[in-house]
Amino acid sequence: MKIAEIKSHVLQYDLPEELGYSQQFYARRTAHLVEVTTDQGITGWGECFGPGNVAIANKAIVERVIAPMIVGDDALARDVIWHKVYNLLRDHGQKGMPMQALSGVDIALWDIAGKVAGMPLHAMIGGAHRNTISVYGYGMMLRREPVAELEARFRNEAAAIRDAGFSATKMKIGLGPKEDIRLAKAVREGVGEDFRFMADANHCYTTSDAFYVGRALDDLDAYWFEEPVAPEDHDGYRELRAGLKVNISGGEAEFNRWGWRALLENRGLDIAQPEVCALGGISEYLRVLALCHAHFTPVVNHVWGSAVAVTANMHLLAAMPPLPGGLHPWEPMLEFDTTDNKFRDELLLEPLNIQDQVKRNGGRVIVPTGPGLGIEPDREFIAHYSVS
Ligand code: CA
Repeated sequence: MKIAEIKSHVLQYDLPEELGYSQQFYARRTAHLVEVTTDQGITGWGECFGPGNVAIANKAIVERVIAPMIVGDDALARDVIWHKVYNLLRDHGQKGMPMQALSGVDIALWDIAGKVAGMPLHAMIGGAHRNTISVYGYGMMLRREPVAELEARFRNEAAAIRDAGFSATKMKIGLGPKEDIRLAKAVREGVGEDFRFMADANHCYTTSDAFYVGRALDDLDAYWFEEPVAPEDHDGYRELRAGLKVNISGGEAEFNRWGWRALLENRGLDIAQPEVCALGGISEYLRVLALCHAHFTPVVNHVWGSAVAVTANMHLLAAMPPLPGGLHPWEPMLEFDTTDNKFRDELLLEPLNIQDQVKRNGGRVIVPTGPGLGIEPDREFIAHYSVS
């Protein structure tokens, strides 16, 4: 079975309201889907991480750099293809956009392999360690509002996410250390004493500011402190992990096994957050997962994007071995963006309905069982929202 064609679909729509994190505000949602077709009529779907114009540029990498290398190759030889593309691009893209582009192609090849085998992705990997997954709802994005208004908004939104049935919640921080501590206090007040909450800084702090905020998160019993400092600052990560009680998490901006090896050997992470749509796809995610577990570092996948990315992550979380195991084992969670996302909620002919499942199933979602990813995107929907 040969690869016949590789197409990228970049979808976009204007959000009902502008949202922000520590680096910028954004008013549009983007998704970048990759469609790989074979000469036997089987189609696989993948997704590349990267919003806005990054997605437009990644589309060019998928269609004009990677596709010419592998069209005509055996569609089932995904590991051979991975290494062919990586080795040919080594001089140009060991990290960043070329890896994001390769990720989407690799995920689509796994979807094809599952469809050929008649097995869901988690079964292709080795089986489901769990058939349902706990879901945490992130929200509490930054707005162009005075901090007092934002505190009230965060307090209410945190309570609403808890009441929607999610098993934990995550907030953005990034206004500045003092303001961020006010926001974190508001979230703790909103969810109450016993509910798990996390804070995501999107790498906006110096190490000393991260310690200042981290000590407040310690006092508030936050569960993790995500991307406190720049992803390149491995020493900062290690110092924060050694000096704070709160779990230090990160890794969404790291790529492939070599990047992850350096990150893990530095001992700066309590919780690893690999992004399968960026780090090199499912083939490379499985190697990164093995590296994380070889360092006894638990993994909570970073999840962003459309129903394609969310479904791929549901399979990966189902197939993740327990670490270290036990009667009441440490369990991973599915990251779920509670803000407006048509590309997750309306892309599929049979929608995932995660919000309904969370409400009905005690904060858990059921792992899909169809072959491959087990999804069927709506082509009219894709045509309607395509911008390139
Ligand atoms: Ca994050």
